[in-house]
Amino acid sequence: SGYHKVLEENRKLYNQVQDLKGNIRVYCRVRPFLPGQGSPSTVGSIDEGNITIITPSKSGKEGRKTFSFNKVFGPSATQDEVFIDTQPLIRSVLDGYNVCIFAYGQTGSGKTYTMSGPKNMTEQTQGVNYRALGDLFKLAEQRKGTFIYDIAVQMIEIYNEQVRDLLVTDGLNKRLEIRNNSQNGLNVPDASLVRVASTMDVMELMNVGQKNRAVGATALNDRSSRSHSCLTVHVQGRDLTSGTILRGCMHLVDLAGSERVDKSEVTGERLKEAQHINKSLSALGDVIASLAQKNAHVPYRNSKLTQLLQDSLGGQAKTLMFVHISPESDAVGETISTLKFAERVSTVELGAARLNK
Ligand code: ADP
Repeated sequence: SGYHKVLEENRKLYNQVQDLKGNIRVYCRVRPFLPGQGSPSTVGSIDEGNITIITPSKSGKEGRKTFSFNKVFGPSATQDEVFIDTQPLIRSVLDGYNVCIFAYGQTGSGKTYTMSGPKNMTEQTQGVNYRALGDLFKLAEQRKGTFIYDIAVQMIEIYNEQVRDLLVTDGLNKRLEIRNNSQNGLNVPDASLVRVASTMDVMELMNVGQKNRAVGATALNDRSSRSHSCLTVHVQGRDLTSGTILRGCMHLVDLAGSERVDKSEVTGERLKEAQHINKSLSALGDVIASLAQKNAHVPYRNSKLTQLLQDSLGGQAKTLMFVHISPESDAVGETISTLKFAERVSTVELGAARLNK
């Protein structure tokens, strides 16, 4: 009806304004129950950007808490649907913007699923990383007559505040330095930089990266959930008529699991890992929150993660955080703390979220 058309137009307009002014977007994604699982869900309802969580209370009566984000993807959302909403951001890399996309959440909540995909991946279940690069190749091809693009990737890991190259082929995860304000946009200049031209190239590299990431992992210590991994895509475009060079860069970050660790229960390596993860995730939260609030001072120096991303957060850069939650009711504590973290880094106000409906 006409009324709905107007509403739809208003929403589009609102989204465009939001695109211009807010550089930080937060999307929430709820993982489905996994085969063999199934208990009452903590998710009471999902309504566009709002999600209501059912919390148990001491008196046995349920509580309800609603959180608002730019968008909430329910358990049945497909990889395709998730990607469509991410696509404009990714495309802006070709126009010289810097972009950061994060996956945040407790271990098992679906971060890797969103960014890479499941173990036995099909074309349908490919994650943001593959789709993003595929899309960049396609667009670059379309603009061939006006622009020439060079696309190259790096893949690194941050584990216990040490930066390592994941694209090495000699089995040595060499330690790397971060240098901010570099001329060519390469702030980890010693990490392997590999030119890519097809999704096949990317698949091969990701395999190398994933193998290197697994080194050092034991059955009890799945390193991939305790380290941050970052796929960085460097794009350089030359305008064929003016000769102008545009440089854009995109960081696709699968963060370490955000679960809180009971300090009385872990010691040694586990405790050290937990402390490093805590420190870097709270540093990331502080940086994004201070950007969202437009503070004059942004505390980038507090962790390797925020140092690495310094040139791609804030300023003209665009940031998107996928916040993942598990639906199981025994995860409700982590779910609430995850959503509180997400709300803190978000620029969405409750009023705006209502308008967004
Ligand atoms: P994380 O990276 O946060 O530790 P994973 O991405 O490994 O979590 O997800 C845990 C499990 O749940 C995996 O088996 C994964 O394939 C599955 N999973 C996660 N998200 C989804 C989803 N949206 N649809 C189907 N399965 C999912």
